[in-house]
Amino acid sequence: MKQHNAQCVFCAIIAGDAPASVVHRDDRCIAFMNLRPLHIGEFMVIPLVHIDHFTDMPDDLAAHIMVVGQRLGRRMMEVYNPKRVGYVVHGFGVPHAHLNVVPLHESSDIVSAKHIVGTEAGFRIAHDAVPLRCRADLDADAAKLRSDQ
Ligand SMILES: [Zn+2]
Repeated sequence: MKQHNAQCVFCAIIAGDAPASVVHRDDRCIAFMNLRPLHIGEFMVIPLVHIDHFTDMPDDLAAHIMVVGQRLGRRMMEVYNPKRVGYVVHGFGVPHAHLNVVPLHESSDIVSAKHIVGTEAGFRIAHDAVPLRCRADLDADAAKLRSDQ
């Protein structure tokens, strides 16, 4: 298992070489706000070691990431009052395992409907279709979700 990948933006965040609005960090994982949230409050939990596929994580690490996502998901319910908290793992985008924790206000939020863009040929997935949220707002969002607040 590779500890760090020099080409990986998530590894750069873990090393402190790229910015992130951090919600939680412990000796095995870090949670930070999504730059392009479908709804305010969306964040992700990732292992500190570079592992591409979520299914390749050791059982105890995968379980720990789910527990952190669940605890912070409870906080998300308190702070943002969505109908439900969704958990999404797909792995397209950054090849470093990540658990997306998504406030769900409508059922289509779980399938990231806002990422679907119509084209002449039909539809395509566009990860940049959702606008960037500015760092100051992301930092404020992270502060609301931190359990020490
Ligand atoms: Zn990585």
